[in-house]
Amino acid sequence: MIKDSSSKSLAEQPVTLLKGVGARNAEKLTRLGIHTLQDLLFHLPLRYQDRTRVQPIGSLRHGDQVVIEGDVDLAEIKFGRRRSLMVYLSDGTGGIYLRFFYFSNAQRQALGRGVRLRCFGEVRNGPNSLEMVHPEYQRIDPGEPLAVEASLTPVYPTTEGVHQLTLRGLMQQVLACLEQEPEGLRELLPQALLGRFRLPDLVRAVSYLHSPPPDADQRQLMAGTHPAQQRLTFEELLAHQISLRKLRAQHQRIRATAFPADNSLKQGLLERLPFQLTPAQLSVVEEIERSLARPRPMQRLVQGDVGSGKTVVSALAALQAIGAGSQVALMAPTELLAEQHLRNFSQWLQPLGVEPVWLTGRKKGRAREAVLERIAAGQAQLAVGTHALFQDDVVFDDLGLVIIDEQHRFGVHQRLALREKGGGKGAMPHQLIMTATPIPRTLAMTAYADLDLSVIDALPPGRKPVTTAVISGRRRDEVVARVRAACAEGRQAYWVCTLIEESEALQCQAAEETERLLAETLTELRVGLVHGRVKQEEKEQVMQRFQSGELDLLVATTVIEVGVDVANASLMIIENPERLGLAQLHQLRGRVGRGSAKSHCVLMYHPPLSANARERLAILRETGDGFVIAQKDLEMRGPGEVLGTRQTGEMQLHIADLVRDQGMLDEVRQAAEMMLRTDPQGADRLVGRWLGERADYGKV
Ligand code: ADP
Ligand code: MG
Repeated sequence: MIKDSSSKSLAEQPVTLLKGVGARNAEKLTRLGIHTLQDLLFHLPLRYQDRTRVQPIGSLRHGDQVVIEGDVDLAEIKFGRRRSLMVYLSDGTGGIYLRFFYFSNAQRQALGRGVRLRCFGEVRNGPNSLEMVHPEYQRIDPGEPLAVEASLTPVYPTTEGVHQLTLRGLMQQVLACLEQEPEGLRELLPQALLGRFRLPDLVRAVSYLHSPPPDADQRQLMAGTHPAQQRLTFEELLAHQISLRKLRAQHQRIRATAFPADNSLKQGLLERLPFQLTPAQLSVVEEIERSLARPRPMQRLVQGDVGSGKTVVSALAALQAIGAGSQVALMAPTELLAEQHLRNFSQWLQPLGVEPVWLTGRKKGRAREAVLERIAAGQAQLAVGTHALFQDDVVFDDLGLVIIDEQHRFGVHQRLALREKGGGKGAMPHQLIMTATPIPRTLAMTAYADLDLSVIDALPPGRKPVTTAVISGRRRDEVVARVRAACAEGRQAYWVCTLIEESEALQCQAAEETERLLAETLTELRVGLVHGRVKQEEKEQVMQRFQSGELDLLVATTVIEVGVDVANASLMIIENPERLGLAQLHQLRGRVGRGSAKSHCVLMYHPPLSANARERLAILRETGDGFVIAQKDLEMRGPGEVLGTRQTGEMQLHIADLVRDQGMLDEVRQAAEMMLRTDPQGADRLVGRWLGERADYGKV
């Protein structure tokens, strides 16, 4: 069965050892992530077919996938919209049509009246009665009954050139090996751990999942909650948890510059602020202070709802580093936001004698050279900008702290790459990452196990909740009237165009069109426009004018999504909100409700609204709590959307599902601690098994 059956672990045996797998097939299998026999065993079925019993035709319902047996009563060619061969099959309990759009003459003749057939296929409601379209079928010779399958038939994820039947065949071969030599698939979890968390044995679990007995609980299997699946899920989550913890431990061995907690700059800023920090801000400030005072690189994620006041918290962190003579880089995801930070920080820090420099992709030539020189010479104490801050030619003299705003999607690799920017003396800068997209605790515990978490869990006093209305686009006139009324009272408004078109150019065009129409209708208002294609200087000017109240209405694409802060704006219209994620809408809505006036948000959808979209928009109407919204978003759209690259790139899970399996996460964390303590080698192997080369996070 196997060409060479040495007693090596299946993890070390390439798939080419299997019969029928040469270099070409092996290459195709790598597309499914399968290199070794062990990989093949961990390639689990998506679902199962039940070919273990023959179902009475009379019991069938739309959607069933079943085996049936019966006699052909009638076979005829029908000329409807499409010519098809219709074969009526009955078994005494009922009858069903088999429909073939493609058929040969020979096939047609073989399906004559009186022939007995075994079929497998999906039952659906046809025009007149139940039917199966292109079922698999087999002729049964009288006196020679066919056997049924002994176990449920697995359906595997496939890829071009690797067929379902091929995979099933290969799996049979590997399972046979495993039966001969169960040690080939090594149990990596310590006995104590298996006992404590009541996990079934690995070999049994894997074999079960590739060929479940006929009485297996199919509903459980389909839902991924069968104990055999949960055992593997646990193992996978454990591997991820361990790898992130190791990453974190690795960090703790790197050097960073320690900054004393107190200095006159920080005091100076606190005294000048027009407000008092909230207790929530103060406690996060303290957490940051303590981390920065240690000679190990801080890696901290600060979560706080929109408007919770993260910027000033980050300014205090910056001053702790600057006060100790080090440099700080502050990166924002968009130019618009970076500019706003530049304004805020300039205003706060200039009186203290700290002058920020500004660096974006658009800064070119001499101006850029000059900034780079100041950064390299250590004269620039604070550099504010976009991704451009981290290009190769930006060399810091002594970078001590990196602040990343609104970027929880900033990946592990990107963060580790910053090590190179750190002062060139082998030290790594501290990192402070801020996000207004709250991440549900369970997710944060898993996906961010390598980071310290801080939460600003309350808003500054005096904020009034934003009232949200969901309104059809058919009532556009009323909405326009609302804008007019709000602006007549001296308030300002945003009108956000989110569009169907994928292309940025079309989006910008549509925003221009909207601006033109609104300006025509609302002749008494001063209307501004920003989108991705408006020239830099012009954009800055428009934002500046909106901020200073020279514009009443700002028409924009979602470029204004993050961070923009204009306290007098109290009305926001969002067109086609059904196209955006909840977190993004919550972000947008966070642009209003920042001042003392009662604020409103109108979600103006394009009818008709799907049931799902209706439900999602209702959540926004009912709550303004970012954490509640994030949890709903997670449940409705899955972790990929919530976590972005984290999930899709670095934290790809094969079987675990962070929503379904969140109940397991506390135990996984305990198990990770236990295993790292008692069996570090096993822990390494486990990470290798599930993450493979992706486990090399740390070795950037
Ligand atoms: P975000 O957390 O969304 O980044 P910002 O830092 O932009 O929020 O803060 C929103 C607004 O709240 C800003 O105008 C800021 O000056 C103000 N602010 C921050 N902290 C406080 C506070 N403790 N009391 C009152 N206003 C505050
Ligand atoms: Mg912010």
